[in-house]
This record gives sequence, structure tokens and C-alpha cells, in this order.
Amino acid sequence: MSGSITFVGAGPGAADLITIRGKRKIDSADVIVYAGSLVDERLMDGSRAEKYNSASLNFEEILEILVRSWREGKQVVRLHTGDPAMYGAVGEQYRALDALGIPYEVIPGVSSVFAAAAALKVEFTMPGVSQTAILTRDSGRTPVPEKENLESLAAHGSTLCLFLSAGDPEGVVRKVLASGRPPETPAAVVYRAGWENQKIVRGTLADLVERVREAGIRRQAMIVIGDVLERPGEMSSLYDRNFEHGYRRRKQFPGHSAIFALTSAGVLKAAEIAAGIDAPVFVAEKYRHLVASDRVVPYPDGGFREAFRSAWNNYDGFVMVMAAGIVTRECAELCRKKTTDPAVVVADELGRHVISLLGGHLGGANRLAEDVASVTGGEAVLTTASDLQGMLAVDEFAARNAMRVLNPETIVRISSAALEGRRIDFVLPESLFRSFYSKVPNFHRVAAPGENPAVVLLESGETVPALHSGETVLYLKRRRFVLGIGCRKNASPEDLEQTVSSVLEHAGGSWENVVRIATADLKLEERALRDLAARHGVRLTGYSAEELNAVSVPHPSEAAWKSLGIHSVSEAAALLASGSRKLLIEKTKGNGVTVALAEEKENDQ
Ligand code: SAH
Repeated sequence: MSGSITFVGAGPGAADLITIRGKRKIDSADVIVYAGSLVDERLMDGSRAEKYNSASLNFEEILEILVRSWREGKQVVRLHTGDPAMYGAVGEQYRALDALGIPYEVIPGVSSVFAAAAALKVEFTMPGVSQTAILTRDSGRTPVPEKENLESLAAHGSTLCLFLSAGDPEGVVRKVLASGRPPETPAAVVYRAGWENQKIVRGTLADLVERVREAGIRRQAMIVIGDVLERPGEMSSLYDRNFEHGYRRRKQFPGHSAIFALTSAGVLKAAEIAAGIDAPVFVAEKYRHLVASDRVVPYPDGGFREAFRSAWNNYDGFVMVMAAGIVTRECAELCRKKTTDPAVVVADELGRHVISLLGGHLGGANRLAEDVASVTGGEAVLTTASDLQGMLAVDEFAARNAMRVLNPETIVRISSAALEGRRIDFVLPESLFRSFYSKVPNFHRVAAPGENPAVVLLESGETVPALHSGETVLYLKRRRFVLGIGCRKNASPEDLEQTVSSVLEHAGGSWENVVRIATADLKLEERALRDLAARHGVRLTGYSAEELNAVSVPHPSEAAWKSLGIHSVSEAAALLASGSRKLLIEKTKGNGVTVALAEEKENDQ
């Protein structure tokens, strides 16, 4: 075997604060050169390597050991404290090895600056306080370039982290005060962060020197200065409800998706998408190690085709990270009907183009493409005509508002009339019409359909007219949702209301879609439930333990079984009351409440 040289960041101290990769290297090393007092020697317990403490060696001697051992074909580890990149004196070692043409690898470590932050439980970058941490040192034996002198760096008002400076706290404080920072600025010193004998000293610029002296700290310590130590300030916009980024953006596609990929680059992109949209990733066995074990679904023996075919009816959407041609050929044989086919989206291996391939409106593929594009930072490629005009197609409108299209044959007629600029009438509640169509000049809201092509939402109880083939009216009906709800005794009505709203929103629907609330008989008297049903004018139904236990559900609950003798309340009740075999939204937990959603079977579908 040929030799190797690896620079490893040992972390700040504690033997379990090293990376797994670094520890493995140590365990298999033949030679270890480690940096004296700041590396915990327990890291090398059990290693049979020849060990050299670099504290007693000069640069040439260290280099000689590295090079000789490498030439002898040995596995060499150069172990540095914290992370090698901070004051590790690795730069000259890299340069010397480069000059000799000897390859090496570097494994990072937890720097003492971050171990100190952990000990202090501080965030260096708090919004409104400081968005910058300066990692530096006071000038000592090694001079600091003039432009980086402590006075000028401190003047920024940023969080300051000082390595190698605890020996002269007076000097540090004097320079920071001279920069204009006020004496009440919080300051702290962490001695041997991460070790068993870690010590923390907190104070202000005014009293830091005295406190450090009292504690007897002179070395192996990190000085941190800045207002962040007091944790004042604003909330990070990361937690702001209105702040949306790649992973926090609300998903638009309401159903369950599956992701397929064929190549290693594709699988890596698929795993990234999966984490963003919360979906399983189907891959060949040889790639399963690239995906978290909770998400990965290896193809059965038949490979990709078999896996895709058998998944076709089990998911609402597919994200295919591969060439569009492959997907088109596969789908050609599986497609049946616009109203029932799943959404299919194709993405390239970089996630740059995310194409809504099949089921753009009704299937939700346009929305799924947008979800995926927002995870990858790519562009959703939509080709459905009315999206190009910036006007929401009626089938997309229906899908987004949890409505069904009763006569999909008429969609084309309405869409082309709309695109030609002809007048279209809508029989819709005012607010719905306003939020989607009030800006389209040729769309009008009317009380009843007349001569013009029209879109009519039938409210519950309204009978579905006899539909004929030349129909110029497109009929929509709200999908009928059943809420299954379980709750703790005396659960709060507000918490319940909130959990239900988020479940409904997730399904793309609203209370208008809810036809029934179902629960266990035992819970029928719970106030939160009765209030909810009354407030929204929805019927509340209970089921006996026996009835509920006869239904098999995705998430049976241990707790409900112990306290009520029921395996599942929310999921079982939703399934029973809807007569459906699949849940639209599986059990969602709120504070003391669980909510599941199913769709009632329709006879006229
Ligand atoms: N590469 C190392 C730093 C080496 S310079 C790292 O990333 O942590 C040595 C200086 O690091 C010390 O003077 C001290 O300021 C700081 N230091 C190293 N280990 C420390 C620890 N466990 N606690 C506090 N400071 C430490």
C-alpha cells in the first residue's frame, strides 16, 4: 500500500469532539505527529501508531518524519488542535509537501472558537447586534499585519474572538477600549473549552482583567468580546412566519410524491429535493448509500421500470431526475386520464430546469415543479398555455381550491375561449372570484350561467345537471373532506382550530370542503370538538372503540391504546367516516390534538 499523509483537526479537547472521519484516520494510522498540550492524548488510546509529540520538534524534524514515513508507505496523521486552518502552522507544511510533490489530505475539526461559543451558549451573529465575527489575535511573538491591529478591528463593533491572547488581557482591553468600544461591553474568557477542567469567566471590558487574574487564567483560553454575549436584539428572520427560503417555503403541491433518479449525480440531487419536499427516493441498489436510510427505496430486481410502474398508482406526484425522453416513454404506457393521472415532473441533474411534464393543472405538476425548483434554486418550466398568459387556468384553479371538475371534456373549450379573449362567466363566491380572476378583463362574475361559456361552482346540495357532450358550462364541485380528530382531555379549542386549519391548508382546501368531523364515541363530549363542529356548522360523528380498531391505519398510537384501548382515533375515524381507503393527510399532531383528513367517496365521479 502506498503511503498517505492526512492533516486532522483534533477538535478543542474532549476526545469525542473530533469528526468521525478524523477519528477513523487516527485509528488506522501507522504514524501520528500530534501538537503537544492542546491535543487530548486520549484521542490516540488504542492506536498502535508510532507517536511523536511535535512540541519538542522543530519544523524540519516534523517534515522529515512525515516525508520519510510516507516514502515507507505508511499512513501518517498530523494531528492539530481545533481546526488546522486557525493558527495551525499548517501553511508551511502544505507548501513544503507541495514542493516535494507529495499528496496529502486535510480533515477539518471543531475549532476552539466554536467550542468556546458552545460553552458560552452564544451566537456570534445575532440580527440587529452583529452579523460578523472577527477571529483574530493580539500581536505577540508573531506580529500581526498593521492593517489588522486590534484597535482597528475592534472599531467595527463586531463580535471579537481572540486566540493566543489570554496572556495579556490588559493589552487586549486597552486596545479594544481605545477603539471606542464602551467599558460596559460584555466580554468573556473560556479556558480549555470542551475539557473537563473548562472554566468560564464573564464580565465587561471594565472588569475582565481582574476576573481573568482571579481565575488564574493565562493561556489555553479564548477571549470573546461583544454585545451578543448578552443576547439582546431581534428575532432572526429565519423564524419569521413570512420569511420563506428554499426549505421553509410553503409547499404548494398537496399530495404525496416519489422521486426517481438513475445516475449518481441524479441521486444526489434527488436526495436534496427529497429533504425539501419530504418524499422517498427510488434508486438502484448500488446508490442506496447516497440517500438517508429513512428515505431510500431500492428498486426491486426488475430495476427502474418495474419500480416506476408499481409506484404509478401509489403516489400523487413523481419527480424524475433524468432525461425527459426516458420519462416520456415510460409514462406513455401508463397514462390513462387527465383527471386521474398523477403529476409528473422532470428535473435535470443540476436541478436547473424543472419541467412540468404531465398533469400540469389537474394533476398539480405545475405546482410540484415550482416546489422542486424552489428547493434546487432552478426554474420551473411550465408549458400549459394559460400559465403563459399569466392567467390561472380553470382546472388549476379547481385543483388549488380543492374542487373537482365534473366535466373535464369542457376544459379545453373554456381555456381556448379564454385565450381568444372571449367573455367567460363565473358563478363563484365573490371572494374566490376576486382573489383569482378580478383582474382578467374578459372574465365576469354572474348569478347564473347564460349564453356565454361559463364556469359554475355547484354548492353542496345543488344537483348536478345532466351533462351533454357539447356542454359550454364547466361544472365544479368542492371535494368533500372528512376530518378525523383525536384529542386529549380538555384540549384547547384554539390549538385544535389551528391544527385543523393547517391540515386543511395543506390539502389545498378550506372549511367549505369539510362535510363531517369524526372521532371516538369517548370524545364526543370534549368541548374543543363540540365547539369546532358548532362554529363551522359541521356534523360530529363518533365511533366505538370496536369500530375504530377494525380499521388498519398508517400510524397507530401506543398512547391511545394505553389510555383508551383504541389503536387510532384520528386516522381510523377519518377513514371510517369517508368510506375511503386512503388518507389525504395522515395524522398531524398539534398541542394535545391529532388530525387526519380523508376524502369522501363520490358517487357521481
Ligand atoms: N487551531 C486551533 C487554535 C490553535 S492556536 C483551533 O482551531 O482551536 C492556540 C490557541 O487556541 C490558544 O492560545 C487558545 O486561544 C485557543 N485554544 C485552543 N484550544 C482551546 C480550548 N480548548 N479552549 C479555549 N481556547 C483554546
